[in-house]
Amino acid sequence: MQHKATCPLAPELRMDDASTLPQRLLASSALPYSWADLPAWTVLDTAFDSLAPFLHCWHTWLSDARRPRMLHYVGILPVARAHHLPALARQAAQATPQWVPLADSLAASCAGLGDGQHRILLAQGQLSLTLCVGDTAALLAEQNFLANTVWVHGTHALWDKWRIKSLARCSQRGAYLAIYSLAPGAQANLNEAGFVDVQHDGNSLQARFQPRWSLGARDLTLAYPTPQRCTVIGAGISGASVAYALARRGWQVVVLDQHAAPACGASGLPAGLVVPHISADDSPRSRMSRVGARLMLQHAKALLQEGSDWQRSGVQELNLEQGSAHWHAEGAWIRPSRLVQAWLHHPAIRCHFGARVTGLQQHAGVWRLSGDDGAIWSESEVVVLANATGCVPLMMAPKHAHHLGVGLVERLEMLHAVHGTVSYAVHQRLPPADNWPTHPVNGHGNFLPQVPLDGGVVWLAGSTFEPDRIPEQAGHRLAPVSEQHRANAQRLCELLPAVGAELASAFARSEVQHWSATRCVTHDRLPWVGALQDTTDGVPPSLWIHAGMGARGLTFSALGAELLVACIGGEPWPIEGNLARSLDVRRPKRRRNGGA
Ligand SMILES: Cc1cc2nc3c(=O)[nH]c(=O)nc-3n(C[C@H](O)[C@H](O)[C@H](O)COP(=O)(O)OP(=O)(O)OC[C@H]3O[C@@H](n4cnc5c(N)ncnc54)[C@H](O)[C@@H]3O)c2cc1C
Repeated sequence: MQHKATCPLAPELRMDDASTLPQRLLASSALPYSWADLPAWTVLDTAFDSLAPFLHCWHTWLSDARRPRMLHYVGILPVARAHHLPALARQAAQATPQWVPLADSLAASCAGLGDGQHRILLAQGQLSLTLCVGDTAALLAEQNFLANTVWVHGTHALWDKWRIKSLARCSQRGAYLAIYSLAPGAQANLNEAGFVDVQHDGNSLQARFQPRWSLGARDLTLAYPTPQRCTVIGAGISGASVAYALARRGWQVVVLDQHAAPACGASGLPAGLVVPHISADDSPRSRMSRVGARLMLQHAKALLQEGSDWQRSGVQELNLEQGSAHWHAEGAWIRPSRLVQAWLHHPAIRCHFGARVTGLQQHAGVWRLSGDDGAIWSESEVVVLANATGCVPLMMAPKHAHHLGVGLVERLEMLHAVHGTVSYAVHQRLPPADNWPTHPVNGHGNFLPQVPLDGGVVWLAGSTFEPDRIPEQAGHRLAPVSEQHRANAQRLCELLPAVGAELASAFARSEVQHWSATRCVTHDRLPWVGALQDTTDGVPPSLWIHAGMGARGLTFSALGAELLVACIGGEPWPIEGNLARSLDVRRPKRRRNGGA
């Protein structure tokens, strides 16, 4: 077919068209009409740095009484432009006053974005923005979602046959496409990739994704696109983060915990650090912790009181072996129990405490969770295990093991428990001596110089690492508390000799308190985020896990929760596919990378 006469091959949008581009893009998807009353809508925008389409879409969505509860917006942009995103956002909003507060809110969350994929939560988390920074083709190949709307504009790439095929891979059957950056043969390439009803308006092509062929698994419902009921086992930071992520999406969530209150396991830590991990090879753990720390601090900023619940203090990382130091400006201390409580406060979440789950039956697509006396705690279509090492005795019980996918019993056996103690004491005088750091220090152990707890402002020095037994394997004796304090005092002397010397007398006079708990650790120190069942006959998995946070649950959990609910609901993932796969329960065994 000869299309050249009617379809100019203009890779760039003419300037006189630029001001109306956002309106024309929305119109190409019949928005806002198309999304009316749906639970969610997903937009893929290959030139996010233009920003006007995003701001217009956001504003239209906000102003629409029949808007979908969740708007997922995936934006691709080059590294060089990502560095200037806050300025670009403000600039794009200059001539449109109603966009200004939106641009300000975006600018406040997107400073310093580097290469890779990032999740930014806007509009109280109902607008989930996934920014993919880097090479368009490589980033598209990493995506697993299916968009309702695809916008291709800007000048960063020429959309040849292969790139159009990669767009098709990210499109839902029926998706709307508007494409402005055209290569020769665009119309034929679109048809070949499954786009039909191609229309052109002189400067762009518009089409629907309606391939004649079956899309296999993509045509089946392999996720839960409509919110349903979910039971989360565990009211620590892993469980609360998942419950909150689901509740924001409209799910009804029940959280069950054996203790009498939330955050009574490892998440009851008086205060800990949210800080990226660094490694020479930028390992999956480093990448995950970078994105995770940023997301965790977004939650803290939105839900907690800075200064009393958390503080973006910055964290100094000392590598004693190499004699080097690294400053994490984005690092913070946080009181995890405060965030757990804030997350669980959502009106769509009901908590049952004193509810130790020992029974897990599935009948006609509904799970029933019960306790020792057989009383049913909850019924739901989906269950998430966020009960740390508690998932091992629960799922390894002969009556439950058959619920697990092939090979997963062996995987569960690889989880282990590591006991830890942090030493802390109320300050005798404030401010502390001049030779104390003003910010937390991390390295071989860590030191938090000033955290306000309920009983006063404390310093904390941690933490010990001692192999423990998983619940119900009794008989293991841990080192006495005095030995654990000694180990923390020794670490502190190595990390910060002057502070260690000053606090030695407090340790000697037993003026130091302790807090202890058990971490749930995987073989490679990366959490488990994913399904515990195989997909059979087009039925999506309904048993999931969010556990194995190790010594970094405060950094990993918000991101793990976003990834888990994205998998459950078939949404865009918050991280690149290759990184997400390294959190899958079935990931290949690799050597662990670095320390805990
Ligand atoms: C001393 C120490 C210092 C730490 N410092 C840091 C730090 O600075 N930064 C950091 O990021 N991380 C730190 N961590 C790690 C962090 O605390 C954990 O990664 C995180 O709290 C794990 O959260 P979780 O929700 O997975 O587990 P938990 O908080 O242990 O929650 C699991 C919950 O499941 C419940 N449960 C178990 N089985 C059942 C069942 N059958 N039925 C019902 N409920 C059940 C338990 O009651 C518990 O409440 C530290 C840990 C320790 C011990």
